[in-house]
Amino acid sequence: MKQSIYLFLILGLISMSCSNKESNPFLVEWNTPFQTPPFDKIKTEHYVPAFKEGIKIHNKEIENIVKNPEAPTFKNTIEALDYSGKILTRVRRVYVGMNDAMTNEQFQKISKEISELRSSHEDDINLNAKLFERVKSVYDNKENFHLNKEQQMLLDRYYKQFVRGGANLNDADKETFRQLNKDISLLSIKFGENVQKDINNYELVIENKDDLDGLPQGVIDAAAVTAKEKGKEGKWVFTIQKSSMIPFLQYAKNRKLREQIYYAYTHKGDNNNEQDNKKILAQMASLRLKRANLLGYKTHADFVLDKEMAKESKNVYGLLDKVWPPALKIAKKEREEMQKIIYKEGNKFKLASWDWWYYAEKLKKQKYDLDEEQLRPYFKLENVIQGVFDLATNLFDMHFVERFDIPKYHPDVKTFEVKDKEGNHIAILYTDYFPRASKRGGAWMDAFTKQSKEDGKFIHPVIYNVGNFTKPTAHTPSLLSVDEVETLFHEFGHAIHGMLSNCTYESISGTETPRDFVEFPSQVMENWAMHPDVLKKYAKHFKTGEIIPKELIDKISNSSKWNQGFATVEYLAASYLDMAWHTLTDTTLQDSNKFETKTMNELGLIPEIVPRYRSTYFNHIFSGEYSSGYYSYIWSEVLDADAFAAFVESGNVYNKELASKYKKYILSSGGTDDAMTLYRKFRGKDPSIEPLLERRGLK
Ligand SMILES: [Zn+2]
Repeated sequence: MKQSIYLFLILGLISMSCSNKESNPFLVEWNTPFQTPPFDKIKTEHYVPAFKEGIKIHNKEIENIVKNPEAPTFKNTIEALDYSGKILTRVRRVYVGMNDAMTNEQFQKISKEISELRSSHEDDINLNAKLFERVKSVYDNKENFHLNKEQQMLLDRYYKQFVRGGANLNDADKETFRQLNKDISLLSIKFGENVQKDINNYELVIENKDDLDGLPQGVIDAAAVTAKEKGKEGKWVFTIQKSSMIPFLQYAKNRKLREQIYYAYTHKGDNNNEQDNKKILAQMASLRLKRANLLGYKTHADFVLDKEMAKESKNVYGLLDKVWPPALKIAKKEREEMQKIIYKEGNKFKLASWDWWYYAEKLKKQKYDLDEEQLRPYFKLENVIQGVFDLATNLFDMHFVERFDIPKYHPDVKTFEVKDKEGNHIAILYTDYFPRASKRGGAWMDAFTKQSKEDGKFIHPVIYNVGNFTKPTAHTPSLLSVDEVETLFHEFGHAIHGMLSNCTYESISGTETPRDFVEFPSQVMENWAMHPDVLKKYAKHFKTGEIIPKELIDKISNSSKWNQGFATVEYLAASYLDMAWHTLTDTTLQDSNKFETKTMNELGLIPEIVPRYRSTYFNHIFSGEYSSGYYSYIWSEVLDADAFAAFVESGNVYNKELASKYKKYILSSGGTDDAMTLYRKFRGKDPSIEPLLERRGLK
């Protein structure tokens, strides 16, 4: 209770001291339902002043911790740190959400200033010698404080944060460190903006109906909607957003146009124009290495992995190297099968990277008599959402009620209250599922408020899921592809992880786990998405309401290993690329394309497959926070495949007993214990890699 009163007092002081601040919605109390962000009041001009004020207040709080005349204790130092910076956290969380989903030129302008403010504030804390002295004192004397496991984890987290943040450096090195952080964060923003610009600038405009040959009606309609939005009514426009491009690659007979759109996609940030990212990313790799060296690490990857489950590069390579050879072998087989189709159709050309989706689709039809478009009618967005909600109800007793009184930042957004079976409030969930120019590509989850407890008061989480799924057209609702359904379940898994969190400290609650663990609760949901017992419940025809026929379910199951060689190789190639950039030991600027080609050649990647992300648009590692971390998905997949195997082995994918164990040890525990320990508590054994190899058909 104390902390909230304190927060209220601060807010009171702010609003009394300056009338200008009174009108800044970040600096006054939120009287919205469940204290959700007042999006109806927040404007772009509010962010910078709110950041500045938030930093000022946070600095004051830190000063109070440092000046505390009492000897450092867990409570007056570590816990106090975790409870500090509330206003700053509040504005930061909304800012991060809007920067990804509602950006525009005006927003991009402030984002540079905010990035500098944030990075220098972080440095001010991490490089605050007196503060570190107190943290270190608690760390060195930890046995005196009788800490429980959660408190030990929090202490470790802060101690590491300081050491990794340069606290042990001498003054000159601290200055260098600070400058490196600043440079890296600015380059990273520029990188992301460049990718976004290239996505927004490209359009494939089709005027001649013949060029639409092969495309399903739904895809054509969607392209007509996009054309209309772009002021080109009567034509058809495809973009290099995946939801627009992939169906084009799958079905368009016009090979030249497939090549054109795929070229644009694979050359984002690599057009030698002002949006070019080659030099930017090479600089980032070099600066990251310098920073790692300064902290005593041999490479940036070693620096990053030190706090993950994998711990060292060799363990990452250990896993990648196990999966790569069988995956490449299968991919080559897939290539052969597709080449046969090309010859059989009387063509002489060799399969190219832009042909892969088109012929893979044909192969699927030939082998499994399955056409992706046959499935879409059963995956109306609203039905899929209902499906994932029902799954959460069945497994974890979560109940969803749409709310219409919570302010939204865009009309596409929906808001839900999540309750337990007794009707008690658990969380708020926002969903925002359609692409728009102001939104970055991909799909993600994050929080406007993270779960925590303060002096006995439970702070409920406010979570959001964002995606770029197929939009409705004039004739049809939003009908998802299988890939999109899996993505929706995936992000929803992250959301559940955030919503069911039951931890004390915000910094280690919910999804604040090692990064190579965090994809486990999300990926495991994908298993349920396509399981026959689950499909039967939610996959209903959007027109007739007919449940997906058994024949189609069988086809989905039979084809589950289709194209897995490609999917695995495409993903692993990007993981190797990430590791290659970040295990460099030489700070000389690399020629980005040469480096990439060399890395891929050494790996033996076949030219018909392009890494899932090429360097120049690898947002995860150059503009997001996944540097030396793209491997995390397969690392977590070992866990998710092994975990789901437990449900399957039990003969019931809705096994309540397993689900409640899973909820207790994985979903509610955040980062309050060692990740492997938590896993063992749930599973009763170490994870095995076999279920993963089996699932991908690599055995
Ligand atoms: Zn994820």
